[in-house]
Amino acid sequence: MGFQEFLGNERIVTALRGALRTKRVPHALLFTGARGVGKFTLARMFAQAANCERLPDDFCGECATCQRISQLADPQTLLEQGLAERGESADAATVERVPLILQSHPDVWALVPDPVRLKSPVARPMLRVGQLRAVQRAAYFQPMGRRRVFILDGAETMRWDVANVFLKILEEPPGSATLILTAPSPYALLPTIVSRCLQFHFAPLPQAAVEKILKEKTDRKPTEIKLAAQLAEGSPGLAIEMDVEAAAQRRRSALRILERAAQGHGFAQLFSDTSALAKDRDSSFEHQIGVFYGLLTDLLELTSKVKEPVLRNAPLAKELESLAKSVDSAWVLRAIAGFDELYVGARRNLNRQLGLDALAASLAPAPSRASVTHS
Ligand SMILES: [Zn+2]
Repeated sequence: MGFQEFLGNERIVTALRGALRTKRVPHALLFTGARGVGKFTLARMFAQAANCERLPDDFCGECATCQRISQLADPQTLLEQGLAERGESADAATVERVPLILQSHPDVWALVPDPVRLKSPVARPMLRVGQLRAVQRAAYFQPMGRRRVFILDGAETMRWDVANVFLKILEEPPGSATLILTAPSPYALLPTIVSRCLQFHFAPLPQAAVEKILKEKTDRKPTEIKLAAQLAEGSPGLAIEMDVEAAAQRRRSALRILERAAQGHGFAQLFSDTSALAKDRDSSFEHQIGVFYGLLTDLLELTSKVKEPVLRNAPLAKELESLAKSVDSAWVLRAIAGFDELYVGARRNLNRQLGLDALAASLAPAPSRASVTHS
């Protein structure tokens, strides 16, 4: 038991242990990195180590405190309990009045984006003002153990006006509490929040480490483990919950779209492809954009003539190499910029289809772009 169970990103673990050992724990930490890379897991482990009854800078996993906090290892169960208790038909006021807080120990709270309903989320799950106000009140209480820890998972889902509630806590940090925010990237948060946090970026894990975790935590066949680890791009959490066949299919479809965009013809087909993407309900739009980023990163390696490129999408190596011959790195960079814009637009709830179509049109080679006619 203890931090040794956490695979990858040793530098971050060492820094957190050092902070605990020297009793110089920051008031606010920001963990950034891809979904499923281990941000929430390490935040939970930190909460255990900050309160373990036996160890000063690690956690035993056996004392009563460790055991209670370890229930956060399965946040889904706590989340479902919370939603069930609040009632399936909670109205907007109730959602704010009864904030969703995952808590298995008085000093440790986890806040996750509130999906409002158990069965079908009414909108995109987000951290709500009620949740943040609850943290604001509780942050100044004295801890029962050594340190109060508040984990705000998916901090990028905070609406920017609501984030000001949170900013107030950061401006007057409580003495014996630590707030840990997780987000895919610091750019998804207000700069005023980012600047008040000590930031740690979680790098993707080597494929072998992801495979090791899958072997321990799932009963999948070795071939499936290998494929899931390849497709998860260094995120064990993603690999664990992945539908391998659907994920592979999604990558192939995304690659087809890039191929057609590079060829600069068949716009009708391209637009119908993008409309299929905009309507894919099983995969979040951000996740789909992430699939494109993965492919484009590979293409960038291939078009920049890196020696022995390591491809994230190794199973698609042949197709990627062939596509890399028909585009240059300027095209790839233009595509990445286009997806950046699309990502920001999606966060502001702009029309996805329009964004995708604009992107597809901008990626056509110049001569055929001029011949596009709208009907
Ligand atoms: Zn312990």
